[in-house]
Amino acid sequence: MQYVSTRGQAPAQSFSQILLGGLAPDGGLYLPVEYPKVSGAELDAWRKLSYAELAFEVLKKFATDIPQEDLKALAHKTYTAEVYRNARAGEDASQITPLRVLEEKDGKKLVLQALSNGPTLAFKDMAMQLLGNLFEYELAKEHSELNIFGATSGDTGSAAEYAMRGKKGIRVFMLSPHKKMSAFQTAQMFSLQDPNIFNIAVEGVFDDCQDMVKAVSNDLEFKTRQKIGTVNSINWARVVAQVVYYFRGYLAATTSNEQKVSFTVPSGNFGNICAGHIARMMGLPIDKLVAATNENDVLDEFFRTGVYRVRKSAETYHTTSPSMDISKASNFERFIFDLLGRDAERVRALFRKVDTHGGFDLSGKPGSDGDEFKNVAQYGFVSGKSVHADRIATIRDVQASYGVTIDTHTADGVKVARENLTSGVPMIVLETALPAKFNETIREALGRDAERPAGFENIEGLPQRFDVMAPDVEKMKAYIASRTGL
Ligand SMILES: *Cc1c(COP(=O)(O)O)cnc(C)c1O
Repeated sequence: MQYVSTRGQAPAQSFSQILLGGLAPDGGLYLPVEYPKVSGAELDAWRKLSYAELAFEVLKKFATDIPQEDLKALAHKTYTAEVYRNARAGEDASQITPLRVLEEKDGKKLVLQALSNGPTLAFKDMAMQLLGNLFEYELAKEHSELNIFGATSGDTGSAAEYAMRGKKGIRVFMLSPHKKMSAFQTAQMFSLQDPNIFNIAVEGVFDDCQDMVKAVSNDLEFKTRQKIGTVNSINWARVVAQVVYYFRGYLAATTSNEQKVSFTVPSGNFGNICAGHIARMMGLPIDKLVAATNENDVLDEFFRTGVYRVRKSAETYHTTSPSMDISKASNFERFIFDLLGRDAERVRALFRKVDTHGGFDLSGKPGSDGDEFKNVAQYGFVSGKSVHADRIATIRDVQASYGVTIDTHTADGVKVARENLTSGVPMIVLETALPAKFNETIREALGRDAERPAGFENIEGLPQRFDVMAPDVEKMKAYIASRTGL
């Protein structure tokens, strides 16, 4: 399987060649030359597999240049009940992503799929844990090392650190805004004592952290010498790892391949739902893919109107579902490439227009950039939006009606899912975090604390290991160089 760039001006590469990288050299995102197809017979055979076995079956269609026995071992090392141990009472941890039926009424069925039982209590562990093992495997093969450098305001940074801790050949340098994350998130990251994890609390806001990452990465000589890499949401292996749980959710919710299901996905950077799009293109019988956004409704606007308009910082809101607070959806280009019939020249022109004019318009109206919005429904996409008051009401209602506490992101999903229920088609809402991570809002909604999984009871009391630094690029470079010795 070879991978091509959405902008059509980079050489085709294998899975292993793009594993450690981010953007293609032409600024595009990688996608397989064509989507591998899954037959009905295969789907039937997959019904009885464990999660790890299923992950291997899906991964081997994409990672064709990794020997199958190695890939199998990596899948089995990653998807264990031990790693995904934060299942709620009544959930079976060995299912890895257990389903829970919330409601079944008039043929309409609302189901939660728990993706947040990993070490950091958010769905990013599903892909990042595999990435940690894949990276370690690949680096050992090449006798190489990698220094991951990134900025975080919460979920991504902690998922990366828990995936890479203790891994041979890998160090993580993670910037976060000093005293701006929640006490729980800060404790999760800063309590790690592994010598290959470096937490740097920057005296500034998240944008200062991101600017430092950009400035350091733009120094190509430094970046190469220090073997700097990233693990952001456009990483192809992360997307592939996420494809697996769509198969799993489908197989767990159905008994025959004649049946369809829909998924509602709390969305920000379009990484999670992009994996759903890929599963559907592979032939998984998905009816609708529902993108749920919060107040930052870039995606909802596109799926309602055909207009993609990125937001300025002043228009990007800090909300109570903060992991969806985005100004642009960094994986969206992958879907646009397919929507435009894989016309890389047009993708290039549209995303150039994003840089120069802040967006593009595929509505087909006079003066627009194309009329492909009319084809969006063919891909199953619909959308909806949820705001703070909706989150609070939904958290209260799901608690009162079903006795389940959901987090704020999942609440956005449930709110939008309810607007899109169809008789005879189960609606699976992807649960992207556990409520303990966003306790302030749970208190507002329910007047009490969210339950904490075992082992997290006193996380804020653990000793913390981090360095405080001014937003100074030269100091940052010196810090990295002195730790890597490169
Ligand atoms: C990252 C994240 C999301 C958004 O996922 P995307 O892949 O960026 O669309 C939603 N919920 C939670 C809890 C997250 O951490």
